[in-house]
Amino acid sequence: KSVKPDVKVMVDNCYGEFVETREPSDLGADMVVGSLIKNPGGGLAPIGGYICGTKECVERCAYRLSAPGLGQEVGANLGLMPAFYQGLFLAPTVTAGALKGAVFAANLYEGLGFPCVPNAAEERHDIIQAVTLGSREAMLAFCRGIQAAAPVDSYVTPEPWAMPGYDSEVVMAAGAFVQGSSIELSADGPIRPPYAVYFQGGLTWQHAKLGILMSLQKLAEAGLAKLPE
Ligand SMILES: *Cc1c(COP(=O)(O)O)cnc(C)c1O
Repeated sequence: KSVKPDVKVMVDNCYGEFVETREPSDLGADMVVGSLIKNPGGGLAPIGGYICGTKECVERCAYRLSAPGLGQEVGANLGLMPAFYQGLFLAPTVTAGALKGAVFAANLYEGLGFPCVPNAAEERHDIIQAVTLGSREAMLAFCRGIQAAAPVDSYVTPEPWAMPGYDSEVVMAAGAFVQGSSIELSADGPIRPPYAVYFQGGLTWQHAKLGILMSLQKLAEAGLAKLPE
């Protein structure tokens, strides 16, 4: 922006909303977008995304997304406005719980010798926590723990599988009320060095903590993590 002020800056703020006291629009972004099955949906929005920013950007998007000349006068809301508003109302609290879970995971796993990004002490800009586990077996054990702690499909065993867009297999753990919702407790990662899982979410801090402890239990049971005496 400082080099070329007329350039339009769009920020994909997925997982970043409500983590900091400032949002991208406070720092000059013209347009900010994100997913409602992440932070700003508060776990209640079952689908959707948002676009916000300058009047000009939002209007242009509306005309492109619906119909030329009609813009925001038309469009589907799927009868979901109460869930969107109530989810948005809860979103800062839900995000705080997920963030606390990520900090907990970094502190727990770093203490056991697994490098974490961000690390245990670092300032955070989103709710994602990477834990470097170092092997395929450890990734699978971690994901089994997250899955076992899920409120839905806790009996399921995550299996690595081919995914569009990846040149290695991907393992995913999620047992969510809303399919694909990653503000709910979930973990995933491509099965390749450095064998890192990306962990996020938890509708409550307590559930995030349970899932992380369960992931460590599965690692310990498989002899892949050594717990202090
Ligand atoms: C999740 C995600 C999206 C897509 O959001 P959906 O609501 O799942 O379509 C886009 N960009 C980034 C960076 C994301 O993390």
